[in-house]
Amino acid sequence: MKTPEKKNGKSNGRNGSRGTPPTKLQTELLEMPAWVPQSMEPGSVFLLRNRSELRAEHGPHGFWAVLACPQCGTLGLITEPQYRGEHSVMCGSPHCSCHFLIHDHSRLEYLPNH
Ligand SMILES: [Zn+2]
Repeated sequence: MKTPEKKNGKSNGRNGSRGTPPTKLQTELLEMPAWVPQSMEPGSVFLLRNRSELRAEHGPHGFWAVLACPQCGTLGLITEPQYRGEHSVMCGSPHCSCHFLIHDHSRLEYLPNH
């Protein structure tokens, strides 16, 4: 796992050429065209509907997509109702309390924690 360390000159090799401040929360999901776990950034989502080998379970309670938490980037599985915005999504990381809803399969609405 990659955990952000103190900046000591050899962090993660990315040089931030896009210039977006890292503290800004994602407001939109980024749908990944292919399953490349290393390129899942915060807010990335990968739909499993055509990838039955990745689906842990079939049926209405099966997982629908892999979502990287828009705050901390932890990968988690979400269900179809969560993807449709009927259920909220909570980050699975014990160090992150990100809680949000997905609107229109793309926009993120952050919800208060408790
Ligand atoms: Zn998180």
